[in-house]
Amino acid sequence: MDRNADDSGGGVGGKADVTADAGATEEADVTEAAAGSQRPARLRGGNVFEHTIAELLRAIRLGQYLVGDKLPPERELAARINVSRATLRQALSELQTAGVVSVRRGRYGGTFVTRLPAADREAGIDLGELDDAVRFRLILDTAAARVVAARELSAEERETLTAAEQGCWMPLGSSAEDIEQFRALDARFHLTIAELTGIPSLAEAAATTRDRINALLDQIPFIHTNVEHSCMQHARIVEAIFDHDAEAAATLAAQHAEGTEQLLRGFLDGK
Ligand SMILES: [Zn+2]
Repeated sequence: MDRNADDSGGGVGGKADVTADAGATEEADVTEAAAGSQRPARLRGGNVFEHTIAELLRAIRLGQYLVGDKLPPERELAARINVSRATLRQALSELQTAGVVSVRRGRYGGTFVTRLPAADREAGIDLGELDDAVRFRLILDTAAARVVAARELSAEERETLTAAEQGCWMPLGSSAEDIEQFRALDARFHLTIAELTGIPSLAEAAATTRDRINALLDQIPFIHTNVEHSCMQHARIVEAIFDHDAEAAATLAAQHAEGTEQLLRGFLDGK
C-alpha cells in the first residue's frame, strides 16, 4: 500500500495530511453504497439541531462512518439528514467540541471521525427493553439474511457485503482501543445485509434496533474471544447468502443473534 504519496516534495511539514490515507476513501465508497436506502422524510420540528446531532452520533456508532473516516461533503450530509447546511455546521461544531470529530485543513482536509461516541447510558438497564431489543433483532436479522440470500446480488453489492464482512476482522490483533471499533464494524456488517434487502423500512428498523443493542452491549465487558467467533459466523452467513441458501443464511443469522442475546442476558439479567 502506497501511503507515502507525499506531494510536499519530501518535506516533513504536512504531518496531518499523511493520516488521510487511501483506505478512508475506499471505506467511504463502501458506506455510500450501504447507506443507499432512503430514509422516510422526517418532521422538521423544533428540535432540528438535537435531531442532527443524534443522527450523526448514530451513524458513527453504527459504523456508517468509522473512526478515521472523512465525513461526506457538507451539502451531501445535510441532504442525507434532511437539514440545512447551517444546522449541520452547528451540529458538527458541537461534535468537534465533544472530541467526536475533528476538522483538518488543507488539501486532504475535511471533517474526520476521531472517536466513537459513548452510548446513552442514562437509560440504565431495563429488562423489558433488553428482551424487546434482542427478540426484535433476531426477527430482523433472520428475515434480512433470508431475503438477501434469495436475491440476485450485483457485483457491486457482493463487493460491499464482502468488504463489510472482511472489515470486522480488522481490529483483531490490534490494540485494546482498536478492538472496540469492532462494535461499529459489526453493526456496519449487519446493516449492510439489512440494506441489501432493498426494503428501506427493514433497514431503518434494523438500524434503530442495532443502536439499542449497542447501548446494551456498552454495559457489559468487551469479550475478545467473542470477536473472532463472531467474525467466523459472519463469514458463514455471507457464504450462505452467496450460495443462495436462504434457509442456511437465516439459521446462521439466528445463531449469531442468539449468541449476542446470551451474552447480554448473562451479564444483564438479574441486575
Ligand atoms: Zn455480528
